[in-house]
Amino acid sequence: MSFKTTTVSASIAKGVLAQMAEMEHEQVLFCHDKETGLKAIIAIHNTVLGPALGGTRMWNYATEEEALNDVLRLSRGMTFKAAITGLKLGGGKAVIIGDAKTQKNEALMRRFGKFVQTLGGKYITAEDVGMETQDMVYIKKETNYVTGLPIEMGGNGNPSPVTAYGVYMGMKASAKFVWGTDSLAGKKVLVQGTGHVGETLIDYLTKEKAIVLVNDINEERVKAIVAKYNAIAVTGNIYAEEVDIYAPCALGATLNSETIPQLRSAIVCGAANNQLLDEKLHAQMLKDRGIVYAPDFLINAGGMISVYAEVAGYNMQKTMEETARIYDTTLNILNTAKEQNITTAQAALNVAMARIEAARKN
Ligand code: NAD
Repeated sequence: MSFKTTTVSASIAKGVLAQMAEMEHEQVLFCHDKETGLKAIIAIHNTVLGPALGGTRMWNYATEEEALNDVLRLSRGMTFKAAITGLKLGGGKAVIIGDAKTQKNEALMRRFGKFVQTLGGKYITAEDVGMETQDMVYIKKETNYVTGLPIEMGGNGNPSPVTAYGVYMGMKASAKFVWGTDSLAGKKVLVQGTGHVGETLIDYLTKEKAIVLVNDINEERVKAIVAKYNAIAVTGNIYAEEVDIYAPCALGATLNSETIPQLRSAIVCGAANNQLLDEKLHAQMLKDRGIVYAPDFLINAGGMISVYAEVAGYNMQKTMEETARIYDTTLNILNTAKEQNITTAQAALNVAMARIEAARKN
């Protein structure tokens, strides 16, 4: 089996089935409801290891193609995330097209939940950008195939703090690989995106006495973070900032042909999904520049572990212990990439694909 590499924009002109064939998706469900105005896409990439689990993103996509492209790429990433983390899950993801601030309501969420239910458990949803724990409560009224539920409902709550912990573990492992010590004290870390994950990561970094630089398109957020954590706000072309670590925690594709030549950090390690615009080309560009890239789908798996815990019945302590293992996995992957002279992204993909292949054979 060989999973192909992808480019964000390459797929736009192609038909849906052609894109599914290229990226090896099993199923894509387009959802529309006149009454609530729901427009959503659920993508199931691979279910060899288990049901496809992945959050729902609500975003005001400029075009349907953009939404489709996002859901296809995100769901594929979930397959590898589950596989490298050793979870009995496949990869899936959903997107709802719309403005999460103005268009989200109970009826819309419940209608979406009904669509999730039609898949009979092949897809399990959770939070992603634009979604809150309360939205999962609405979805739960229509389907059992939902995670990321509040603690009082037997869930693990919003998975973002666990994701941030995993990213922090991946960052410490990357530091160990580069500097021989995993202490982040005194290191300059630029966190792009100060949302659910970004803020908790900033909290860990501040407690460890790192120098934290922050950037967000939401100015109010930046003000609040600067005041709370004594962080330094940066604006303009942030990619050229002289920092030790760049942590992309906003949206994907910030590692591309324009940004990589400008980067001055030794490490890239953040929560955002699909950070590389082109998996192969841009992983290689980072390697050529001597920048250590901690693969996104490996280090941001904490959230998936947190929602999987609801399916597997782990408590929070076990969830955090499982997430802490991201440190060792990251160190192994970085060392393997060095030994084999391949990109870190490829080294991580190789492990994930080998797990899926072994399960398929069984
Ligand atoms: P969030 O919506 O809470 O936060 C995202 C933040 O990024 C917001 O503050 C937003 O204003 C900011 N932002 C958006 N575009 C920006 C830009 N161009 N420049 C600077 N800032 C920008 O989302 P989150 O839950 O914190 O997730 C952050 C990233 O991590 C996403 O890519 C998400 O897919 C990924 N991720 C999240 C989880 C999780 O558990 N929440 C798990 C795995 C991966």
